[in-house]
Amino acid sequence: MFPAMPAASPLEKKPVRSLLAPEIEQTFATMGQPVYRARQVLQWLYEKRVRSFEAMTDLPAALRAQLSSTFAFDELEVIRKTGSEDTTQKFLFRLGDGNLIESVLIPASPALYGEDSDRRTLCVSTQVGCAYGCKFCASGLNGWTRNLHAGEIVEQVLKAEAISGERVNNIVFMGMGEPLANFENLMRAIAIINAPWGIHLGARHITVSTSGLAPQIRELADQPLQIRLAVSLHGATDAVREQIMPVNRKYPLATLLEACAYYIQRKKQYLTFEYILIDRVNDTPEQARALAVHARALRAKVNLIPYNTVEGLPWQRPEASRQNAFLSILKRQNVSATIRTEKGRDIDAACGQLRLKTERELASDKPFAETQEPG
Ligand code: SAH
Ligand code: SF4
Repeated sequence: MFPAMPAASPLEKKPVRSLLAPEIEQTFATMGQPVYRARQVLQWLYEKRVRSFEAMTDLPAALRAQLSSTFAFDELEVIRKTGSEDTTQKFLFRLGDGNLIESVLIPASPALYGEDSDRRTLCVSTQVGCAYGCKFCASGLNGWTRNLHAGEIVEQVLKAEAISGERVNNIVFMGMGEPLANFENLMRAIAIINAPWGIHLGARHITVSTSGLAPQIRELADQPLQIRLAVSLHGATDAVREQIMPVNRKYPLATLLEACAYYIQRKKQYLTFEYILIDRVNDTPEQARALAVHARALRAKVNLIPYNTVEGLPWQRPEASRQNAFLSILKRQNVSATIRTEKGRDIDAACGQLRLKTERELASDKPFAETQEPG
């Protein structure tokens, strides 16, 4: 299931948090080290969560030095944090190569993705930027820069827990990037997040969101883990979806919905349709009726998300009466649907927005507040 890590050049250190337990054990075996040493290292990494080999004090000094020259840590530096303990908190991280990504920690909120309530949800990024260029989204505005490797995905969880002092009990891959376009690193990160030796979070508490990469949805369906799937539909006919999501030209609705059907049939699991409501674009009664047909056919739950305006983009959030009218049509068709109230609206919680704002401020030399803003 996991292709070997891409071979690091002799000078390049392997990111240690991208490795699975058997790979670490294997590396130790080649170094002539007993397997219990590898287990000690895993405990330091995921139980005690130290950030250097130096700190692994029950390992011999020579081994620690050897590990330091073989492996690298994926240190994420928090360069901006908004929100406060009991509201949505957003972290802007700088990666080792200077690129910026963001993660959002959302406090307990009722049953967002088929979960029980009272869960702390972390929204995680999988790429720097995004190549899919949805017309309404801040993440894709400046295109795609690179994939995150597994360790950088895992580290977002560890860092969010370290900063907040609390365990994350639900993870959604709804931050920057298209998770299914970074499939191998995503699956590797999920394996580490799920593993008893790793972060040990149940697969049912992990949701992958996709803009609709049909072949990868099928591939995901064939994976053994029971992770949840959310599909960003945002348009219930090709004509409307195509206007705002270029990916629809590659995978039109019929192709996408067939892949979704395959997913639920393989997984015996419900899926969620994410549907942003954009004023006068996709929020008409006709779209609601067409959406109801798709949702009923797949017994999918619908999450309606009132659009979060992005500076520089023309789209608007519909007024509450239009949102409710859309919702009532779905309900009348017996579709399970809710309007997601955006807890993080005030702090640019929609994906990609904090990075965009920060990059714009940095470009204009305008200093930004390092400290917390009211949530
Ligand atoms: N690329 C994946 C996952 C990241 S986007 C995907 O598209 O599903 C996560 C969710 O945030 C998607 O449903 C996306 O459409 C939504 N989103 C993006 N920009 C938004 C905005 N300005 N307001 C509300 N939701 C937005
Ligand atoms: Fe990429 Fe998702 Fe944003 Fe579309 S909505 S540009 S796929 S991150």
